[in-house]
Amino acid sequence: MRIVNVQPPAWWWETPGESLARALDVPRINFGDLIRDHLRQGTELGLRADEIMEAGGAPLDELRTAIVRDHLRREAPAAFLLDHHPVNVVQALALDELLHELGTPLDGVVRLRLPEHELERHVRSVADRRVCRGIPTHGHEPAAGTPAAEGACDVCGAGLHQRRDDEESTVRARFGTHEARTAPVTRYYAERGLLVTVDAVGTPDEIAARALAALRRRGGRVG
Ligand SMILES: [Zn+2]
Repeated sequence: MRIVNVQPPAWWWETPGESLARALDVPRINFGDLIRDHLRQGTELGLRADEIMEAGGAPLDELRTAIVRDHLRREAPAAFLLDHHPVNVVQALALDELLHELGTPLDGVVRLRLPEHELERHVRSVADRRVCRGIPTHGHEPAAGTPAAEGACDVCGAGLHQRRDDEESTVRARFGTHEARTAPVTRYYAERGLLVTVDAVGTPDEIAARALAALRRRGGRVG
């Protein structure tokens, strides 16, 4: 089964995309990981991406598509969950064409939607989290309603700080642009009968279970 996952930005370590890939028992292809691999290995695609990002831009449709094509041609996965791509209709059309060439069309698209009240809670929880200055994967996310953690990492004792990406204004801006930016691509998939929309409320596992149930209700070859 081949699924595209469209989810709001700024999740915590474990995203619903990871849980959903596990529930579907398919590999998760995260566009962010693909581009980071190219940058790290200094491939031609990585160098092009680096040049654009150094200049403060985002990789263009054609470059993003080339990165996805490179991965799908090389790995030829029979099933996958694709995260953070496509983000617009041009990229979606190119992905359709590529998957058609490979004989592996999409089976469904999951759109995770944060309801208004949940969005506010989510912004607060992201803005309240802190990471360890020593080992950045030591995360500290206070329980709902309690203030941001102060002082030291309870794993290794190093100081805590707030990542710039987690500042409230940054988080709010990212959520705002996400909705506006992904509306056309989700409409495109809805018109093709591929889209299921699921409320992103609860733990990543609960959200994944809800998405799986919605995909099953939609029919097709899911599960
Ligand atoms: Zn630590």
